[in-house]
Amino acid sequence: VSHPHPDLGRPSRLPRNGLRIVGLGGLGEIGRNMTVFEHAGRRLIVDCGVLFPDPDQPGVDLILPDFTSLVGRYHLIEAVVITHAHEDHIGAIPYLLRERADIPLVGSKLTLGLVSSKLAEHRITPQTIEVGAGARQTFGPFNCEFLAVNHSIPDALAVAIRTRAGTVLHTGDFKMDQLPLDGRLTDLGGFARLGTEGVDLLMADSTNAEVPGIVTPERDIAPVLADIFASATQRIIVACFASHVHRVQQVLDTAAAHGRKVALVGRSMVRNMGVARDLGYLRIPVVPGGLMVDLKEAEEMPPERIVLISTGSQGEPMSALSRMAGRDHPIRVAEGDTVILASSLIPGNETAVYRVINALTRWGAKVAHRGNAMVHVSGHASAGELLYVLNLVRPRNFMPVHGEWRHLRAHARLASLTGVSDDNIVIAENGMVVDLVDGKASVAGAVPCGYVYVDGLSVGEVTETSLKDRRILGDEGFVSIVVVVDSTTGKLAAPPEIHARGSGIDDAAFGAVIPLIEEALAGVAAEAINDSRQLGQLVRRTVGRWVNENYRRRPMIIPVVVDV
Ligand SMILES: [Zn+2]
Ligand SMILES: [Zn+2]
Repeated sequence: VSHPHPDLGRPSRLPRNGLRIVGLGGLGEIGRNMTVFEHAGRRLIVDCGVLFPDPDQPGVDLILPDFTSLVGRYHLIEAVVITHAHEDHIGAIPYLLRERADIPLVGSKLTLGLVSSKLAEHRITPQTIEVGAGARQTFGPFNCEFLAVNHSIPDALAVAIRTRAGTVLHTGDFKMDQLPLDGRLTDLGGFARLGTEGVDLLMADSTNAEVPGIVTPERDIAPVLADIFASATQRIIVACFASHVHRVQQVLDTAAAHGRKVALVGRSMVRNMGVARDLGYLRIPVVPGGLMVDLKEAEEMPPERIVLISTGSQGEPMSALSRMAGRDHPIRVAEGDTVILASSLIPGNETAVYRVINALTRWGAKVAHRGNAMVHVSGHASAGELLYVLNLVRPRNFMPVHGEWRHLRAHARLASLTGVSDDNIVIAENGMVVDLVDGKASVAGAVPCGYVYVDGLSVGEVTETSLKDRRILGDEGFVSIVVVVDSTTGKLAAPPEIHARGSGIDDAAFGAVIPLIEEALAGVAAEAINDSRQLGQLVRRTVGRWVNENYRRRPMIIPVVVDV
């Protein structure tokens, strides 16, 4: 396990009146949010999410927070508080429950509904404790109060954690939409009340700390959708996140108003909207004959009567939208169709998304996306809202969370502007230990904390070294050389055999390097070196030098020495 803070030692013992806070993910990155609170020997975890890999992490499916510092302490965990059901907050829960199956999951009705349906796919039935906005509940030495916040998924919660060490307010992901579709406002009154009581540490969402102003209300998208629907003459396909219940609600309402039927496409979209509808968070408009149809029916209907709501807004290659763009889906995108990408563009996905947009455009579709129409608003508070919260809460200490370095720094600056003393602002990275003792938060050390890669069924077995090998293989290909050596004389018993894959060098071209290998091996045979490892290195160096000199390439070179 890598240790990103060699300069920081292991923390010393936490004083009895202290609260220890360790972010195992989400600090310095957008994703895999997970914070461990320790007090009086017990643990409370807030969120347990996944991070999606970059293109330079080939073959990796997911990245988990590093649980190393919890090994041997799983029995001390009182509960996992889940602020909301986005993957970057819930995705690693199945992996945590593998370590201890009966850790209670605490969350709102919709959050637990979505988490449970996802865990069912892993054949896990979790222990759950439902809490609503305004609820107070004690988990061991942690007294938790839950506050409503609005975000790009309904029923999100902030949590105030009271201990003998003081009060921490963790906002979770939030924004301050003043006209939310469900009327459920971020509980600014509650934030102000906590501020008056005294908040020792505020931990707040930093995603949009660099963006000035405030976020546009979700409902402002409705007239834009209405305009697009009014001018569409063929099929409409809307791609958005499979958990964005209110975005889907607006599409359903617009479809009903324009006399179109709706089909949901993509497994997670169908599953999540089923849960949201069953629990009363998604309202299906009542129209003659019913609004919803399944994909089979949608295929048969006249294109001007149908709207498809699909996953794949990030250009994910296996998603329904990418497959439609690649003509690998029962729905054939055609001239005059309208595609709406009603979602953010997550950094790193640009190439994939524009590839899909270009493919759809090539088939003749008109594509509306956030670059050319207001079909998306962010789920995260901008600087104006963050300042508002800082001024309401007036925390003694501040720790920005949920962001890359640039976001954390920008948020820290906002805190400083509102009067939080610079000494009391802690920018921590994953694995850094922050202790709140006697009203002061400070870095007390670090625990081991690296990336845990999931690849297929393997968890944590793919390492940085494997990824480096994969990058070399991906960029340069490989060359294997089999040499058969007579173990008594150290001389070649047969001509070397060379095979290359993905190197861009023709197998026949390697004929030129064979005399060099023979020469090198003859040289060491004279010195009576016949250790197969040393001979292998010699072959690798010889071939590597030849490839570099003649082709300016550095493929992976794998020598195999066989003694006879
Ligand atoms: Zn979120
Ligand atoms: Zn998040």
